[in-house]
Amino acid sequence: MNVKKMYINNQWQLSHSGETREIINPATEEVIAVITEGAISDTKNAIEAAHEAFYTKGWGETHARERAALLFKLADKLERDIESFALLETLNNGKPLRESSYDIEDAVNQFRYYAGLATKPAGQVYDVPDNIQAFVVKEPVGVAGLIVPWNYPLVMAVQKLAPALAAGCTVVIKPAEQTPLSLIKLFELVNEVGFPPGVVNLVLGAGETVGAELARNPLVDKIAFTGGTVTGKKIMKSAADTLKNISLELGGKSPNIVFEDADFETAVDYALYAIFANQGQVCSAGSRLLIQQSLYEKFILELVRRANAIQVGEGTDPKTEMGPLISKQHMEKVLEYIEQGKEEGAEIVCGGNQLFNKGYFVAPTIFTNTHADMTIVKEEIFGPVLVVQTFVNEEEAIKLANDSDYGLAGAVFTSDGAKALRVIRKLRAGITWVNTYHPTFNEAPWGGYKQSGIGRELGTFGLEAFQEVKQVNISLEVQPSGWFKNK
Ligand code: NAD
Repeated sequence: MNVKKMYINNQWQLSHSGETREIINPATEEVIAVITEGAISDTKNAIEAAHEAFYTKGWGETHARERAALLFKLADKLERDIESFALLETLNNGKPLRESSYDIEDAVNQFRYYAGLATKPAGQVYDVPDNIQAFVVKEPVGVAGLIVPWNYPLVMAVQKLAPALAAGCTVVIKPAEQTPLSLIKLFELVNEVGFPPGVVNLVLGAGETVGAELARNPLVDKIAFTGGTVTGKKIMKSAADTLKNISLELGGKSPNIVFEDADFETAVDYALYAIFANQGQVCSAGSRLLIQQSLYEKFILELVRRANAIQVGEGTDPKTEMGPLISKQHMEKVLEYIEQGKEEGAEIVCGGNQLFNKGYFVAPTIFTNTHADMTIVKEEIFGPVLVVQTFVNEEEAIKLANDSDYGLAGAVFTSDGAKALRVIRKLRAGITWVNTYHPTFNEAPWGGYKQSGIGRELGTFGLEAFQEVKQVNISLEVQPSGWFKNK
């Protein structure tokens, strides 16, 4: 197999390490590619190239129209190749093909959204005293280090790449160790589009080496990270030494609240979709289902019946509704959580086991008889495991929903509009839904409260995350201040 390379300063490069990494299809456990294993020295080279492109070669001073034109071209090329990108994403990540196709379409849309936004009005003008014309301009933050997780490999990458480049930053991006293939393929298109050398760089390798170098290197001005909360804390600590601008999109344990007056069919359907889409490997998954006590028996019966009917299999099979987990290691972590849930006294009413003798498949799993201080209720499992809690009234639902260190997302199902809004206003979470779960759009901000992160991606907020704000004051009357009396 040809060893896949990094893209640094517009050159495809093997790492100085001389080492390689095998990339596995999680449905079949087969090696589907071999990539070069990046080292700290490669990362430093990529950062230096990005620094030179920004500070010496003037990418930051290009006109928005030029940057937008490149991003529109990239979007067109990605759209042309949607099918091959979707297949590659499924082979590398395991997710069903239909989900991969949505993801790639989303990435195309992200490039177009930020290409469009780049040329739109920005800044503010102030009416101030003392014959001063005061206004604000937005400027690119500089060199951006982008670190991406494995659950939405291409979408999470483009969600950062597109606004960073639109803002006029230069970038060094690192995919997750397990899922680099769609991003490497995107860089073939980056190469075709023809960005100037050093503007867009791809490094491959481990978080502890390549990722950590991006977070601590003094030539990097901004870190945009999506991943686990534990890693986010490490990144924040090492970015502190150079006071880097940071955005963190972290984990969650999001509540999905179902009141007795909810539309039954809709609420059951979304309770399943909230947790089992993408095998539960979604930061905003509805992993805590809060059901009103009076509805509990009827709801659980139907939920379990339908969870058992979910078609689990290889993502390339059109019948598949849920694929494998990302890796053996992650599958074992999820199975350990399931064991811990049993030991702590929760009851499994569905699944709880590994499936098939090849691939990293776990059955859709539902726990009942839980209470708020169980590990499976508190910690993010990041797999197809739902924990069910019950509540008596609105006040208790809100209390349980907010009883978490996380605050990424949350939903409420009810036919009482006023109640829905009351509950949403009390939820300490950045992304919320009423009578639906999961739909989010590139136009609207994405991010969490509490330990689910800092800052927002997507929408206009996503562009601002890669911009500095400069205040400009121009005197309209050129004369000395007269502050010091003795000349
Ligand atoms: P992870 O934190 O293990 O890894 C994410 C990325 O960080 C990878 O590229 C990894 O190589 C890198 N990394 C690891 N250690 C590092 C270090 N010390 N310094 C710098 N970089 C390092 O997370 P994961 O397992 O890939 O992804 C799952 C997590 O991501 C879940 O917790 C999930 O909730 C979260 N997530 C959040 C969002 C969001 O938008 N809030 C979206 C997707 C995933």
